[in-house]
Amino acid sequence: MEPRDIDGDLTEILIEEAEIRARLAEMSRQIEADYAGKDLLLVGVLKGAVMVMADLARELVHPVTMDWMAVSSYGSGTQSSGVVRILKDLDTDLHGRHVLIVEDIIDSGLTLSWLMANLNSRGPASLEICALLRKPDAARVEIDVKYLGFDIPNQFVVGYGLDYAEKYRNLRSVGVLAPHVYSTGE
Ligand code: 5GP
Ligand code: MG
Ligand code: MG
Repeated sequence: MEPRDIDGDLTEILIEEAEIRARLAEMSRQIEADYAGKDLLLVGVLKGAVMVMADLARELVHPVTMDWMAVSSYGSGTQSSGVVRILKDLDTDLHGRHVLIVEDIIDSGLTLSWLMANLNSRGPASLEICALLRKPDAARVEIDVKYLGFDIPNQFVVGYGLDYAEKYRNLRSVGVLAPHVYSTGE
């Protein structure tokens, strides 16, 4: 990866862009096989899933439609609380649709378990999850991730859509944010 200014805020690059793209390609082949002959609706969770959605959707040789939801899980700093509020709902009626949620990362799993229940109540024909990253705590909740990119250690990561205070989303790889960044607040 080319040196860039914001790289100084990372202690380590965990996953390079090329590894992400290669893994998304493998996942896409699996998705194409599983949804052969079916219309698929990809539901991206804003804002973190923007990069995953863009690369996954373009990798898929399968007709898809895309829609977006924005949710906020109340909680301070880097912890999710499980109390979820819809900031932007879908434009699409899910009834009878094959729906695949596209997420950046599963940490506590609280956001996704709430989202699964919410979207399931709208009567989709099927509802599955595709997530790029998963942290170890996710094992504590019952979330069945059908398509997973990578299991990562329990560290706060940024890049490839993932932010800290809205920054770092445009990093091409996923890296660990240096502690000095949160301690100064910038
Ligand atoms: P969960 O509800 O599974 O604990 O986490 C939900 C959301 O918290 C994720 O979709 C993501 O927006 C944020 N999150 C969790 N872990 C991380 C992390 O390591 N880095 C960043 N940037 N966001 C995270
Ligand atoms: Mg997310
Ligand atoms: Mg965030």
